[in-house]
Amino acid sequence: SRKPIISGNWKMNLNHWEAIQTVQKLHYSLPKEVYRDVDVSVHPPFTDIRSVQTVIESDELELQLGAQHCHWEEKGAFTGEISPLFLAKLDVKLVVCGHSERRDLFGETDEMVNKKVKAIFKHGMTPIMCCGESLEEREAGETEAKVLGQVVAGLDKVKADQVASMVIAYEPIWAIGTGKTATSEDAQAVCKAIRGAVAAKYDAETAAEVRIQYGGSVKASTAEDLMAQPDIDGALVGGASLDPEEFSRIVQFA
Ligand code: 13P
Repeated sequence: SRKPIISGNWKMNLNHWEAIQTVQKLHYSLPKEVYRDVDVSVHPPFTDIRSVQTVIESDELELQLGAQHCHWEEKGAFTGEISPLFLAKLDVKLVVCGHSERRDLFGETDEMVNKKVKAIFKHGMTPIMCCGESLEEREAGETEAKVLGQVVAGLDKVKADQVASMVIAYEPIWAIGTGKTATSEDAQAVCKAIRGAVAAKYDAETAAEVRIQYGGSVKASTAEDLMAQPDIDGALVGGASLDPEEFSRIVQFA
């Protein structure tokens, strides 16, 4: 049985002072026992990572530290890029890669996402690999082709045991930051198809273990239905993760 995982992607929000307060408030809003049943991660901007790591370490929080992306090389002449090696040194456990905002605004391709997935594993961290279709693609009936294409390309030459341990986040682009959540049935159908694609590329055991999150305007009011779906194992939460009380309510539905 898969342990649900709820991740807060803060995107480019909350400076390092605000980050410390937010993590402390989140800690006080979450019952301690929650971590037995759910993994919870926060993905602050890079400028906050060291501050959040210090809070997690000194207060011995079970919250997992995450990042929003990284480069595939571990060091060198890559001005402005972020080393996965350095993230691992800061106790980062999970790294989001292939978010649609990175793909659409910063030109990340499936090939780059695949290199990142491998680099994240190489440094002992867990990738949260994102996929999702645009509104035009959905309306043209191309949702599965697009999403499964991204998944298969992103997993190129990634080993079965690694895939079993990773997280795939299905985020329909039209649902991100728009207040339009996919219906639980639509989200379940795509997540099930993703699991099917993993089974076809690897095997049934790998597919049964990989955790699949839904993302796109998840709120406490929509989380319960989404989390009840058999192939949805958690959520990648943007806007609602900036409010510790709202985020803690989402976690408690998982
Ligand atoms: P929102 O929850 O703000 O729609 O963002 C979703 C998302 O992109 C998380 O990565």
